[in-house]
Amino acid sequence: MRMILVGPPGAGKGTQAARLLSTYEIPHISTGDMLRAAKKAGTEMGKKAAAFMDAGNLVPDEVVIGLVIDRIAEADCEEGFMLDGFPRTRPQAEALDTALTAAGVSLDVVLLIEVPDELIVERITGRRSDPATGTIYHLKFNPPPAALASKVVQRADDTEKACVARLKKYHSETAPIVPFYESKGLVRRVNGNAAPDVVTDRIKDVLSRN
Ligand code: AMP
Repeated sequence: MRMILVGPPGAGKGTQAARLLSTYEIPHISTGDMLRAAKKAGTEMGKKAAAFMDAGNLVPDEVVIGLVIDRIAEADCEEGFMLDGFPRTRPQAEALDTALTAAGVSLDVVLLIEVPDELIVERITGRRSDPATGTIYHLKFNPPPAALASKVVQRADDTEKACVARLKKYHSETAPIVPFYESKGLVRRVNGNAAPDVVTDRIKDVLSRN
């Protein structure tokens, strides 16, 4: 299964991807995670990406496209992959299409997780993660266990200011990829405004109808 997860920041893409992995045994490829790892490692690419990320802006297409095209050419992606946070612009979607066509394969589904804008800021600013495992929590909706309370960390771009910028970018740059995939009949929509378990069930239901 070759699948793309699309949705605004805080829609639950990362959370749902982690839950879907036990059902669909394919690599979860998150460009946000890859860029954060590069930033942490202090590589040239990480340094270049950091300023864009922390301000809530998109990292330039030429950086991200190369990263993903190389990753999906690896052997573990032969049977499929779950792309999370890519493509985020129309040129990224077109570059992915070209690479897949050249490899003689195609996408199976574009899963759009929809959450209204007015809920996003609260979701994002309350988000925390366990630095040891990457498990995502929310201070109000899914609090970390007491033993982790002092250990969880907040992403540098999960502030209100960066969140508002990311949401704007989502609408101006990323939302336009939806009609591109709709014209190919690939889009499945899921209402993401519910508890994570409920959303996972909705996703599995939608995917089983494929
Ligand atoms: P995410 O973890 O998906 O929310 O991504 C965090 C940040 O990484 C984004 O706000 C962007 O700055 C950057 N980023 C992740 N994926 C992409 C992408 N496909 N294109 C451009 N920037 C990206």
